[in-house]
Amino acid sequence: MSASQAREQTWRRLESQTWDVVIVGGGITGVGILHEATRRGLQAVLVEQGDFASGTSSRSSKLVHGGLRYLATGDLKLTWQSVRERERLLDELPGLVEPIGFLMASYEGDKLGKRMMRTGLRIYDFFGSGVPHKPLSAADLLMLAPRLRLERLSGGFWYRDAQTDDARLVLRVLFDAIASGGAALNYARVEELIDRAGQVGGVILRDRDADRVARVEARAVVNATGAWADRLRTQLDAKPVIRPLRGSHLLFPSWRFPVAQAVAFRDPKDQRPLFAYPWEGLTLLGTTDLDHERSLDEAPSISEVEARSMVEAARAAFPGLSLSVKDAVSTYAGVRPVIGTGKKDPSKESREHIIWNEKGLVTVTGGKLTTFREIAREAVDAFEPLMASSLRRKVAKRGRFPTPPTSVYWGALDAMERRRLAGRYGTWTPALVEAAREGELERIPETYFRWAELRHAARVERVEHLEDLLLRRVRVGLLLPDGGREHLERVRGICQDELGWDDGRWEREAERYLRAWETQHRPPNVSDTEKVIHAPRASAPRAVG
Ligand SMILES: Cc1cc2nc3c(=O)[nH]c(=O)nc-3n(C[C@H](O)[C@H](O)[C@H](O)COP(=O)(O)OP(=O)(O)OC[C@H]3O[C@@H](n4cnc5c(N)ncnc54)[C@H](O)[C@@H]3O)c2cc1C
Repeated sequence: MSASQAREQTWRRLESQTWDVVIVGGGITGVGILHEATRRGLQAVLVEQGDFASGTSSRSSKLVHGGLRYLATGDLKLTWQSVRERERLLDELPGLVEPIGFLMASYEGDKLGKRMMRTGLRIYDFFGSGVPHKPLSAADLLMLAPRLRLERLSGGFWYRDAQTDDARLVLRVLFDAIASGGAALNYARVEELIDRAGQVGGVILRDRDADRVARVEARAVVNATGAWADRLRTQLDAKPVIRPLRGSHLLFPSWRFPVAQAVAFRDPKDQRPLFAYPWEGLTLLGTTDLDHERSLDEAPSISEVEARSMVEAARAAFPGLSLSVKDAVSTYAGVRPVIGTGKKDPSKESREHIIWNEKGLVTVTGGKLTTFREIAREAVDAFEPLMASSLRRKVAKRGRFPTPPTSVYWGALDAMERRRLAGRYGTWTPALVEAAREGELERIPETYFRWAELRHAARVERVEHLEDLLLRRVRVGLLLPDGGREHLERVRGICQDELGWDDGRWEREAERYLRAWETQHRPPNVSDTEKVIHAPRASAPRAVG
Protein backbone atom coordinates (compact mmCIF):
# COMPACT_ATOMS: atom_id res chain seq x y z
CA MET A 1 0.00 0.00 0.00
CA SER A 2 1.38 3.44 -0.89
CA ALA A 3 1.86 6.08 1.81
CA SER A 4 -1.09 8.13 0.53
CA GLN A 5 -3.37 5.07 0.53
CA ALA A 6 -2.26 4.29 4.11
CA ARG A 7 -3.09 7.86 5.10
CA GLU A 8 -6.56 7.71 3.54
CA GLN A 9 -7.25 4.38 5.20
CA THR A 10 -6.24 5.72 8.64
CA TRP A 11 -8.31 8.86 8.13
CA ARG A 12 -11.41 6.75 7.29
CA ARG A 13 -10.87 4.54 10.37
CA LEU A 14 -10.72 7.53 12.72
CA GLU A 15 -14.47 7.95 13.19
CA SER A 16 -15.46 4.32 12.74
CA GLN A 17 -14.45 3.08 16.18
CA THR A 18 -13.81 4.16 19.76
CA TRP A 19 -10.05 4.02 20.22
CA ASP A 20 -8.43 2.92 23.44
CA VAL A 21 -6.10 5.87 23.23
CA VAL A 22 -5.46 8.84 20.97
CA ILE A 23 -1.99 10.29 21.37
CA VAL A 24 -1.53 13.93 20.39
CA GLY A 25 2.03 14.77 19.26
CA GLY A 26 4.38 12.89 16.96
CA GLY A 27 7.72 13.57 18.67
CA ILE A 28 9.72 10.97 20.57
CA THR A 29 7.33 11.09 23.56
CA GLY A 30 4.24 10.44 21.44
CA VAL A 31 5.75 7.71 19.27
CA GLY A 32 7.24 6.04 22.37
CA ILE A 33 3.74 5.90 23.89
CA LEU A 34 2.24 4.61 20.62
CA HIS A 35 4.88 1.87 20.59
CA GLU A 36 4.28 0.88 24.20
CA ALA A 37 0.46 1.01 23.95
CA THR A 38 0.52 -1.11 20.80
CA ARG A 39 2.86 -3.60 22.45
CA ARG A 40 0.33 -3.93 25.26
CA GLY A 41 -2.40 -4.73 22.74
CA LEU A 42 -4.28 -1.42 22.88
CA GLN A 43 -5.97 0.19 19.85
CA ALA A 44 -3.90 3.35 19.59
CA VAL A 45 -3.76 6.20 17.11
CA LEU A 46 -1.22 9.05 17.07
CA VAL A 47 -1.88 12.42 15.45
CA GLU A 48 0.70 15.09 14.67
CA GLN A 49 -0.05 18.65 13.52
CA GLY A 50 3.03 18.90 11.28
CA ASP A 51 5.37 16.16 10.17
CA PHE A 52 6.46 13.39 12.54
CA ALA A 53 9.49 14.63 14.53
CA SER A 54 9.12 18.16 13.20
CA GLY A 55 9.02 19.57 16.77
CA THR A 56 11.88 19.37 19.23
CA SER A 57 12.61 15.73 18.49
CA SER A 58 14.52 16.51 15.28
CA ARG A 59 16.22 19.55 16.83
CA SER A 60 18.00 18.11 19.86
CA SER A 61 21.72 17.74 20.48
CA LYS A 62 21.35 14.13 19.27
CA LEU A 63 22.97 12.60 22.32
CA VAL A 64 21.71 9.47 24.01
CA HIS A 65 23.34 10.32 27.25
CA GLY A 66 23.26 10.11 30.98
CA GLY A 67 23.37 13.87 31.22
CA LEU A 68 26.43 14.45 33.33
CA ARG A 69 25.39 18.08 33.76
CA TYR A 70 22.15 16.98 35.45
CA LEU A 71 24.22 15.64 38.35
CA ALA A 72 25.20 19.23 39.03
CA THR A 73 21.50 20.18 39.42
CA GLY A 74 20.90 17.17 41.70
CA ASP A 75 18.81 15.20 39.15
CA LEU A 76 20.31 11.87 40.27
CA LYS A 77 17.26 9.84 39.28
CA LEU A 78 17.26 11.32 35.78
CA THR A 79 20.96 10.54 35.34
CA TRP A 80 20.53 6.99 36.62
CA GLN A 81 17.54 6.31 34.35
CA SER A 82 19.32 7.86 31.39
CA VAL A 83 22.53 5.87 31.80
CA ARG A 84 20.53 2.64 32.01
CA GLU A 85 18.46 3.52 28.94
CA ARG A 86 21.55 4.57 27.00
CA GLU A 87 23.09 1.15 27.59
CA ARG A 88 19.90 -0.62 26.48
CA LEU A 89 19.59 1.46 23.33
CA LEU A 90 23.24 0.88 22.46
CA ASP A 91 22.58 -2.83 22.76
CA GLU A 92 19.28 -2.89 20.81
CA LEU A 93 19.80 -0.28 18.10
CA PRO A 94 23.39 -0.55 16.86
CA GLY A 95 23.78 1.57 13.73
CA LEU A 96 21.28 4.13 15.02
CA VAL A 97 22.57 4.62 18.55
CA GLU A 98 26.36 4.51 18.59
CA PRO A 99 28.98 5.11 21.28
CA ILE A 100 30.91 8.34 21.27
CA GLY A 101 33.91 9.34 23.40
CA PHE A 102 33.73 12.65 25.28
CA LEU A 103 36.73 14.73 26.29
CA MET A 104 36.35 17.18 29.12
CA ALA A 105 39.15 19.70 29.54
CA SER A 106 39.99 21.35 32.84
CA TYR A 107 41.83 24.67 33.18
CA GLU A 108 43.49 26.21 36.23
CA GLY A 109 40.98 28.48 37.95
CA ASP A 110 37.87 26.74 36.50
CA LYS A 111 34.82 27.05 38.72
CA LEU A 112 34.02 23.38 38.18
CA GLY A 113 37.35 21.95 39.33
CA LYS A 114 38.86 18.61 38.42
CA ARG A 115 37.80 17.14 41.72
CA MET A 116 34.12 17.84 41.02
CA MET A 117 34.43 16.46 37.51
CA ARG A 118 35.98 13.28 38.88
CA THR A 119 33.22 12.86 41.48
CA GLY A 120 30.54 13.32 38.81
CA LEU A 121 32.20 10.80 36.52
CA ARG A 122 32.54 8.26 39.34
CA ILE A 123 28.81 8.51 39.97
CA TYR A 124 28.26 8.13 36.22
CA ASP A 125 30.40 4.98 36.19
CA PHE A 126 28.62 3.67 39.25
CA PHE A 127 25.26 4.02 37.47
CA GLY A 128 26.50 1.45 35.01
CA SER A 129 28.29 2.74 31.94
CA GLY A 130 30.39 -0.44 31.82
CA VAL A 131 33.25 1.60 30.36
CA PRO A 132 34.96 3.56 33.16
CA HIS A 133 36.10 7.12 32.61
CA LYS A 134 39.82 7.86 32.28
CA PRO A 135 41.77 10.77 33.73
CA LEU A 136 43.95 12.55 31.14
CA SER A 137 47.03 14.71 31.47
CA ALA A 138 47.23 17.97 29.53
CA ALA A 139 49.57 16.23 27.06
CA ASP A 140 47.06 13.36 26.53
CA LEU A 141 44.27 15.84 25.92
CA LEU A 142 46.28 17.74 23.38
CA MET A 143 47.12 14.54 21.57
CA LEU A 144 43.39 13.69 21.36
CA ALA A 145 42.18 17.23 20.60
CA PRO A 146 45.21 19.10 19.25
CA ARG A 147 43.31 22.34 18.60
CA LEU A 148 42.34 22.87 22.24
CA ARG A 149 43.56 25.97 24.05
CA LEU A 150 46.85 25.14 25.71
CA GLU A 151 47.19 28.07 28.10
CA ARG A 152 46.52 26.97 31.74
CA LEU A 153 45.28 23.53 30.59
CA SER A 154 45.67 21.24 33.58
CA GLY A 155 44.33 17.95 32.19
CA GLY A 156 40.88 16.45 32.01
CA PHE A 157 38.89 13.29 31.48
CA TRP A 158 37.60 10.92 28.85
CA TYR A 159 34.26 9.17 29.23
CA ARG A 160 31.87 7.34 26.97
CA ASP A 161 28.34 8.40 25.99
CA ALA A 162 26.27 7.78 22.85
CA GLN A 163 24.85 9.67 19.87
CA THR A 164 22.01 9.15 17.42
CA ASP A 165 20.03 10.70 14.59
CA ASP A 166 17.08 12.01 16.60
CA ALA A 167 14.52 12.23 13.76
CA ARG A 168 15.43 8.73 12.56
CA LEU A 169 15.03 7.44 16.11
CA VAL A 170 11.48 8.84 16.14
CA LEU A 171 10.78 7.28 12.74
CA ARG A 172 12.25 3.91 13.72
CA VAL A 173 10.02 3.76 16.82
CA LEU A 174 7.01 5.01 14.81
CA PHE A 175 7.30 2.51 11.97
CA ASP A 176 7.93 -0.38 14.38
CA ALA A 177 4.72 0.65 16.19
CA ILE A 178 2.84 0.82 12.86
CA ALA A 179 4.15 -2.62 11.91
CA SER A 180 2.64 -3.97 15.15
CA GLY A 181 -0.79 -2.47 14.50
CA GLY A 182 -0.51 1.16 15.67
CA ALA A 183 -2.05 3.93 13.54
CA ALA A 184 -0.58 7.38 12.91
CA LEU A 185 -1.36 10.50 10.90
CA ASN A 186 0.85 13.50 10.25
CA TYR A 187 -0.44 16.95 9.27
CA ALA A 188 -3.51 16.43 11.49
CA ARG A 189 -3.98 18.94 14.28
CA VAL A 190 -6.09 18.51 17.39
CA GLU A 191 -8.20 21.63 17.68
CA GLU A 192 -10.48 20.71 20.55
CA LEU A 193 -10.95 18.17 23.28
CA ILE A 194 -14.30 16.33 23.41
CA ASP A 195 -16.08 16.58 26.75
CA ARG A 196 -17.84 13.39 27.93
CA ALA A 197 -19.59 13.99 31.25
CA GLY A 198 -16.85 16.25 32.56
CA GLN A 199 -14.03 13.97 31.35
CA VAL A 200 -12.00 14.17 28.13
CA GLY A 201 -13.44 11.58 25.76
CA GLY A 202 -11.67 12.27 22.47
CA VAL A 203 -10.51 15.00 20.13
CA ILE A 204 -11.64 17.07 17.17
CA LEU A 205 -9.02 16.75 14.49
CA ARG A 206 -8.35 18.85 11.39
CA ASP A 207 -6.47 17.51 8.38
CA ARG A 208 -4.26 20.50 7.62
CA ASP A 209 -3.71 19.91 3.93
CA ALA A 210 -7.14 18.54 2.87
CA ASP A 211 -8.97 20.81 5.34
CA ARG A 212 -11.40 18.19 6.65
CA VAL A 213 -12.42 17.49 10.22
CA ALA A 214 -12.92 14.26 12.20
CA ARG A 215 -14.40 13.53 15.62
CA VAL A 216 -12.20 10.89 17.24
CA GLU A 217 -13.63 9.14 20.31
CA ALA A 218 -11.20 7.50 22.74
CA ARG A 219 -11.12 6.01 26.23
CA ALA A 220 -7.94 7.94 26.97
CA VAL A 221 -6.32 11.03 25.44
CA VAL A 222 -2.60 11.65 25.85
CA ASN A 223 -1.19 15.13 25.43
CA ALA A 224 2.40 14.55 24.21
CA THR A 225 2.71 17.95 22.56
CA GLY A 226 5.97 18.99 24.24
CA ALA A 227 6.42 22.76 24.26
CA TRP A 228 2.78 23.14 23.09
CA ALA A 229 1.38 21.13 26.05
CA ASP A 230 -0.28 24.11 27.75
CA ARG A 231 -2.43 24.77 24.68
CA LEU A 232 -4.49 21.61 25.27
CA ARG A 233 -4.29 21.82 29.07
CA THR A 234 -5.62 25.35 29.18
CA GLN A 235 -8.76 24.19 27.32
CA LEU A 236 -9.53 22.47 30.65
CA ASP A 237 -8.75 25.69 32.58
CA ALA A 238 -5.47 24.25 33.87
CA LYS A 239 -2.74 26.70 34.84
CA PRO A 240 0.01 27.05 32.20
CA VAL A 241 3.33 25.66 33.46
CA ILE A 242 5.61 25.23 30.46
CA ARG A 243 8.71 27.40 30.24
CA PRO A 244 9.87 27.03 26.63
CA LEU A 245 13.66 27.19 26.43
CA ARG A 246 15.43 27.44 23.09
CA GLY A 247 18.63 25.61 22.32
CA SER A 248 20.43 26.25 19.03
CA HIS A 249 23.19 24.49 17.12
CA LEU A 250 25.57 25.15 14.25
CA LEU A 251 26.97 22.53 11.87
CA PHE A 252 30.45 23.01 10.40
CA PRO A 253 32.37 21.08 7.76
CA SER A 254 34.62 18.70 9.70
CA TRP A 255 37.73 19.87 7.83
CA ARG A 256 37.03 23.37 9.15
CA PHE A 257 36.27 22.36 12.74
CA PRO A 258 38.05 19.04 13.19
CA VAL A 259 37.23 16.98 16.30
CA ALA A 260 37.66 13.21 16.38
CA GLN A 261 35.31 12.76 19.32
CA ALA A 262 33.10 15.01 21.43
CA VAL A 263 34.80 17.83 23.29
CA ALA A 264 32.95 19.48 26.19
CA PHE A 265 34.07 22.97 27.12
CA ARG A 266 32.77 26.07 28.88
CA ASP A 267 31.81 29.47 27.60
CA PRO A 268 34.32 31.82 29.27
CA LYS A 269 31.62 34.52 29.52
CA ASP A 270 29.29 32.63 31.85
CA GLN A 271 30.77 29.13 32.32
CA ARG A 272 27.87 27.54 30.44
CA PRO A 273 28.69 24.07 29.10
CA LEU A 274 29.03 23.67 25.33
CA PHE A 275 30.23 20.81 23.19
CA ALA A 276 31.47 20.09 19.70
CA TYR A 277 31.19 16.63 18.25
CA PRO A 278 31.34 14.74 14.98
CA TRP A 279 27.86 14.00 13.62
CA GLU A 280 27.11 12.57 10.17
CA GLY A 281 30.49 13.70 8.85
CA LEU A 282 30.18 17.30 10.10
CA THR A 283 30.94 18.94 13.44
CA LEU A 284 27.98 19.91 15.58
CA LEU A 285 28.41 22.84 17.97
CA GLY A 286 25.82 23.39 20.70
CA THR A 287 23.98 24.56 22.56
CA THR A 288 22.28 27.59 24.07
CA ASP A 289 19.56 27.56 26.76
CA LEU A 290 17.43 30.70 26.51
CA ASP A 291 13.84 31.67 27.18
CA HIS A 292 12.04 31.26 23.85
CA GLU A 293 9.85 34.28 23.51
CA ARG A 294 8.77 33.88 19.91
CA SER A 295 5.44 32.26 18.98
CA LEU A 296 5.37 28.46 18.95
CA ASP A 297 3.45 28.72 15.67
CA GLU A 298 6.68 29.71 13.91
CA ALA A 299 9.42 27.11 13.51
CA PRO A 300 12.29 28.15 15.79
CA SER A 301 15.62 29.32 14.42
CA ILE A 302 18.96 30.45 15.79
CA SER A 303 19.41 34.17 16.45
CA GLU A 304 22.48 36.06 15.30
CA VAL A 305 23.41 36.71 18.94
CA GLU A 306 23.29 32.99 19.79
CA ALA A 307 25.36 32.07 16.76
CA ARG A 308 28.01 34.67 17.50
CA SER A 309 28.14 33.83 21.17
CA MET A 310 28.67 30.09 20.56
CA VAL A 311 31.26 30.71 17.89
CA GLU A 312 33.11 33.14 20.17
CA ALA A 313 33.17 30.47 22.90
CA ALA A 314 34.44 27.90 20.39
CA ARG A 315 37.14 30.34 19.26
CA ALA A 316 38.26 30.70 22.87
CA ALA A 317 38.38 26.92 23.33
CA PHE A 318 40.01 26.21 19.93
CA PRO A 319 41.94 29.43 19.26
CA GLY A 320 44.01 28.18 16.31
CA LEU A 321 40.90 27.57 14.19
CA SER A 322 39.69 31.20 13.95
CA LEU A 323 36.16 29.93 13.41
CA SER A 324 33.46 32.19 12.04
CA VAL A 325 29.68 31.89 11.90
CA LYS A 326 30.17 32.17 8.14
CA ASP A 327 31.95 28.81 8.11
CA ALA A 328 28.79 27.02 9.22
CA VAL A 329 26.91 24.88 6.69
CA SER A 330 23.61 25.04 8.52
CA THR A 331 21.94 25.69 11.86
CA TYR A 332 18.88 24.56 13.75
CA ALA A 333 17.06 25.42 16.95
CA GLY A 334 14.70 23.46 19.19
CA VAL A 335 12.43 24.35 22.08
CA ARG A 336 12.70 22.37 25.28
CA PRO A 337 9.49 21.99 27.24
CA VAL A 338 10.63 22.34 30.83
CA ILE A 339 8.31 22.82 33.75
CA GLY A 340 9.03 26.37 34.89
CA THR A 341 9.66 27.07 38.54
CA GLY A 342 10.66 30.67 37.90
CA LYS A 343 14.40 30.10 38.39
CA LYS A 344 16.39 32.96 36.95
CA ASP A 345 18.95 30.78 35.21
CA PRO A 346 17.15 28.56 32.66
CA SER A 347 19.90 25.90 32.94
CA LYS A 348 18.90 25.32 36.57
CA GLU A 349 15.35 24.18 35.69
CA SER A 350 14.91 20.39 36.01
CA ARG A 351 14.83 18.26 32.85
CA GLU A 352 12.72 15.56 34.54
CA HIS A 353 9.50 14.59 32.80
CA ILE A 354 6.10 15.06 34.42
CA ILE A 355 2.85 13.13 33.94
CA TRP A 356 -0.46 14.68 34.99
CA ASN A 357 -4.00 13.42 34.68
CA GLU A 358 -6.38 16.38 34.40
CA LYS A 359 -10.02 15.37 33.74
CA GLY A 360 -8.81 12.34 31.83
CA LEU A 361 -6.27 14.25 29.74
CA VAL A 362 -2.92 12.61 30.46
CA THR A 363 -0.17 15.16 29.79
CA VAL A 364 3.39 13.89 29.44
CA THR A 365 6.03 16.52 29.04
CA GLY A 366 9.59 17.49 29.90
CA GLY A 367 12.15 14.70 29.89
CA LYS A 368 14.66 13.63 27.29
CA LEU A 369 15.00 11.76 24.06
CA THR A 370 17.18 9.24 25.87
CA THR A 371 14.54 8.15 28.38
CA PHE A 372 11.59 7.89 25.97
CA ARG A 373 10.88 4.25 26.79
CA GLU A 374 10.77 4.86 30.54
CA ILE A 375 8.49 7.83 29.96
CA ALA A 376 6.24 5.77 27.67
CA ARG A 377 5.94 2.95 30.21
CA GLU A 378 4.94 5.38 32.95
CA ALA A 379 2.47 7.15 30.66
CA VAL A 380 0.72 3.92 29.61
CA ASP A 381 0.62 2.83 33.27
CA ALA A 382 -1.11 6.15 34.00
CA PHE A 383 -3.97 5.69 31.53
CA GLU A 384 -4.28 1.88 31.43
CA PRO A 385 -6.71 1.84 34.39
CA LEU A 386 -9.18 3.64 32.09
CA MET A 387 -9.30 0.51 29.90
CA ALA A 388 -11.57 -2.47 30.61
CA SER A 389 -9.41 -5.28 32.02
CA SER A 390 -10.36 -7.48 29.03
CA LEU A 391 -8.43 -5.08 26.80
CA ARG A 392 -5.17 -5.47 28.65
CA ARG A 393 -2.75 -7.99 27.29
CA LYS A 394 -0.11 -9.64 29.47
CA VAL A 395 3.25 -8.63 28.04
CA ALA A 396 6.84 -8.69 29.19
CA LYS A 397 7.77 -5.63 31.24
CA ARG A 398 10.16 -4.53 28.52
CA GLY A 399 10.17 -5.14 24.78
CA ARG A 400 13.15 -5.22 22.44
CA PHE A 401 13.38 -3.61 19.04
CA PRO A 402 13.14 -6.22 16.27
CA THR A 403 16.12 -6.83 14.00
CA PRO A 404 15.95 -7.36 10.20
CA PRO A 405 15.82 -10.95 8.93
CA THR A 406 19.23 -12.54 8.35
CA SER A 407 18.43 -13.25 4.70
CA VAL A 408 18.58 -9.62 3.50
CA TYR A 409 20.17 -9.13 0.07
CA TRP A 410 22.77 -6.46 0.82
CA GLY A 411 24.35 -5.88 -2.60
CA ALA A 412 27.89 -4.58 -2.20
CA LEU A 413 27.30 -2.93 1.18
CA ASP A 414 29.98 -3.64 3.78
CA ALA A 415 29.41 -4.57 7.43
CA MET A 416 29.37 -0.98 8.74
CA GLU A 417 26.94 0.13 6.04
CA ARG A 418 24.63 -2.80 6.80
CA ARG A 419 24.73 -1.97 10.49
CA ARG A 420 23.77 1.62 9.77
CA LEU A 421 20.80 0.68 7.57
CA ALA A 422 19.59 -2.10 9.88
CA GLY A 423 19.68 0.27 12.88
CA ARG A 424 17.71 2.93 11.06
CA TYR A 425 15.14 0.82 9.25
CA GLY A 426 14.86 -2.39 11.32
CA THR A 427 12.53 -4.89 9.69
CA TRP A 428 11.92 -2.48 6.80
CA THR A 429 15.56 -2.80 5.68
CA PRO A 430 15.00 -5.58 3.09
CA ALA A 431 12.27 -3.48 1.41
CA LEU A 432 14.64 -0.52 1.24
CA VAL A 433 17.50 -2.48 -0.32
CA GLU A 434 15.21 -4.28 -2.78
CA ALA A 435 13.60 -1.02 -3.95
CA ALA A 436 16.97 0.52 -4.84
CA ARG A 437 17.44 1.17 -8.56
CA GLU A 438 20.81 1.03 -10.24
CA GLY A 439 23.34 3.25 -8.46
CA GLU A 440 20.96 4.09 -5.61
CA LEU A 441 22.90 2.14 -3.00
CA GLU A 442 25.64 4.67 -3.53
CA ARG A 443 25.97 7.57 -1.16
CA ILE A 444 24.53 11.00 -1.75
CA PRO A 445 27.84 12.91 -2.20
CA GLU A 446 29.43 14.23 1.01
CA THR A 447 26.95 12.35 3.26
CA TYR A 448 26.52 8.85 4.67
CA PHE A 449 22.94 8.66 3.34
CA ARG A 450 22.10 6.68 0.23
CA TRP A 451 19.81 7.56 -2.67
CA ALA A 452 17.86 4.39 -1.89
CA GLU A 453 16.88 5.86 1.48
CA LEU A 454 15.15 8.72 -0.32
CA ARG A 455 13.24 6.30 -2.54
CA HIS A 456 12.22 4.10 0.39
CA ALA A 457 11.13 7.08 2.49
CA ALA A 458 9.13 8.60 -0.37
CA ARG A 459 7.46 5.24 -1.01
CA VAL A 460 6.45 4.17 2.50
CA GLU A 461 7.41 6.69 5.19
CA ARG A 462 4.37 9.00 4.94
CA VAL A 463 6.18 11.89 3.24
CA GLU A 464 3.71 14.70 2.55
CA HIS A 465 6.13 17.50 1.66
CA LEU A 466 9.67 17.74 0.30
CA GLU A 467 10.92 19.14 3.60
CA ASP A 468 9.75 15.92 5.36
CA LEU A 469 12.01 13.99 3.03
CA LEU A 470 15.10 16.20 3.08
CA LEU A 471 15.07 17.44 6.66
CA ARG A 472 13.84 14.44 8.66
CA ARG A 473 13.67 11.13 6.71
CA VAL A 474 17.11 11.72 5.20
CA ARG A 475 18.94 14.64 6.77
CA VAL A 476 20.72 15.97 3.75
CA GLY A 477 19.09 19.38 4.21
CA LEU A 478 21.19 19.88 7.34
CA LEU A 479 24.37 18.36 5.97
CA LEU A 480 24.86 19.95 2.57
CA PRO A 481 25.50 23.58 1.66
CA ASP A 482 22.31 25.42 0.65
CA GLY A 483 20.24 22.50 1.86
CA GLY A 484 21.48 20.26 -0.97
CA ARG A 485 20.02 22.51 -3.70
CA GLU A 486 22.44 21.08 -6.25
CA HIS A 487 20.88 17.59 -5.94
CA LEU A 488 17.27 18.66 -6.29
CA GLU A 489 16.92 17.49 -9.90
CA ARG A 490 17.77 13.91 -8.95
CA VAL A 491 15.47 14.12 -5.91
CA ARG A 492 12.73 15.37 -8.21
CA GLY A 493 12.90 12.15 -10.27
CA ILE A 494 12.50 10.04 -7.13
CA CYS A 495 9.59 12.15 -5.82
CA GLN A 496 7.79 12.11 -9.13
CA ASP A 497 8.15 8.29 -9.39
CA GLU A 498 7.18 7.48 -5.83
CA LEU A 499 4.80 10.27 -4.83
CA GLY A 500 3.21 10.92 -8.20
CA TRP A 501 3.94 14.65 -8.03
CA ASP A 502 3.43 16.42 -11.34
CA ASP A 503 5.69 19.31 -12.42
CA GLY A 504 3.50 21.96 -10.77
CA ARG A 505 3.44 20.11 -7.45
CA TRP A 506 7.21 19.60 -7.62
CA GLU A 507 7.81 23.32 -8.21
CA ARG A 508 5.62 24.26 -5.25
CA GLU A 509 7.31 21.71 -3.00
CA ALA A 510 10.81 22.81 -4.00
CA GLU A 511 9.92 26.44 -3.33
CA ARG A 512 8.38 25.58 0.06
CA TYR A 513 11.42 23.50 1.03
CA LEU A 514 13.94 26.18 0.06
CA ARG A 515 11.93 28.80 1.95
CA ALA A 516 11.88 26.59 5.08
CA TRP A 517 15.63 26.05 4.74
CA GLU A 518 16.32 29.76 4.40
CA THR A 519 14.29 30.70 7.48
CA GLN A 520 15.20 27.80 9.77
CA HIS A 521 18.57 26.49 8.72
CA ARG A 522 20.64 29.09 6.89
CA PRO A 523 23.42 30.44 9.14
CA PRO A 524 22.75 34.07 10.11
CA ASN A 525 24.31 36.55 7.78
CA VAL A 526 26.82 38.11 10.15
CA SER A 527 28.08 41.37 8.81
CA ASP A 528 31.57 41.60 10.20
CA THR A 529 35.08 41.09 9.00
CA GLU A 530 35.55 37.52 10.23
CA LYS A 531 37.42 35.61 7.57
CA VAL A 532 35.94 32.56 5.89
CA ILE A 533 38.05 29.71 4.62
CA HIS A 534 36.53 27.94 1.64
CA ALA A 535 37.04 24.24 1.06
CA PRO A 536 38.10 23.05 -2.33
CA ARG A 537 34.97 21.13 -3.43
CA ALA A 538 34.95 17.34 -3.37
CA SER A 539 38.26 17.13 -1.55
CA ALA A 540 38.96 14.62 1.19
CA PRO A 541 38.43 16.02 4.70
CA ARG A 542 41.51 17.89 5.87
CA ALA A 543 42.47 20.13 8.73
CA VAL A 544 42.79 23.86 8.13
CA GLY A 545 43.76 26.53 10.58
C1 LIG B 1 18.31 22.20 22.15
C2 LIG B 1 17.90 20.89 22.73
C3 LIG B 1 18.82 19.87 22.85
C4 LIG B 1 18.44 18.65 23.39
N1 LIG B 1 19.35 17.64 23.42
C5 LIG B 1 18.99 16.43 23.89
C6 LIG B 1 19.93 15.37 23.83
O1 LIG B 1 21.02 15.51 23.31
N2 LIG B 1 19.54 14.18 24.34
C7 LIG B 1 18.31 14.00 24.90
O2 LIG B 1 18.07 12.89 25.37
N3 LIG B 1 17.40 14.97 24.93
C8 LIG B 1 17.70 16.19 24.43
N4 LIG B 1 16.80 17.21 24.42
C9 LIG B 1 15.46 16.96 24.93
C10 LIG B 1 14.59 16.25 23.89
O3 LIG B 1 14.90 16.69 22.59
C11 LIG B 1 13.13 16.52 24.17
O4 LIG B 1 12.85 16.16 25.50
C12 LIG B 1 12.22 15.69 23.28
O5 LIG B 1 12.56 15.80 21.93
C13 LIG B 1 10.78 16.12 23.49
O6 LIG B 1 9.99 15.32 22.70
P1 LIG B 1 8.44 15.51 22.67
O7 LIG B 1 7.88 14.41 21.85
O8 LIG B 1 7.92 15.62 24.07
O9 LIG B 1 8.22 16.93 22.00
P2 LIG B 1 8.26 17.30 20.44
O10 LIG B 1 9.30 16.57 19.71
O11 LIG B 1 8.28 18.77 20.34
O12 LIG B 1 6.87 16.75 19.92
C14 LIG B 1 5.64 17.37 20.24
C15 LIG B 1 4.83 17.37 18.96
O13 LIG B 1 3.48 17.75 19.25
C16 LIG B 1 2.97 18.35 18.07
N5 LIG B 1 1.76 19.09 18.42
C17 LIG B 1 1.67 20.21 19.17
N6 LIG B 1 0.37 20.59 19.26
C18 LIG B 1 -0.37 19.70 18.55
C19 LIG B 1 -1.75 19.57 18.28
N7 LIG B 1 -2.65 20.43 18.74
N8 LIG B 1 -2.16 18.53 17.50
C20 LIG B 1 -1.26 17.63 17.01
N9 LIG B 1 0.07 17.72 17.25
C21 LIG B 1 0.51 18.73 18.02
C22 LIG B 1 4.13 19.25 17.63
O14 LIG B 1 4.02 19.60 16.28
C23 LIG B 1 5.34 18.39 17.94
O15 LIG B 1 5.82 17.70 16.81
C24 LIG B 1 17.12 18.45 23.86
C25 LIG B 1 16.18 19.48 23.75
C26 LIG B 1 16.57 20.70 23.18
C27 LIG B 1 15.57 21.78 23.01
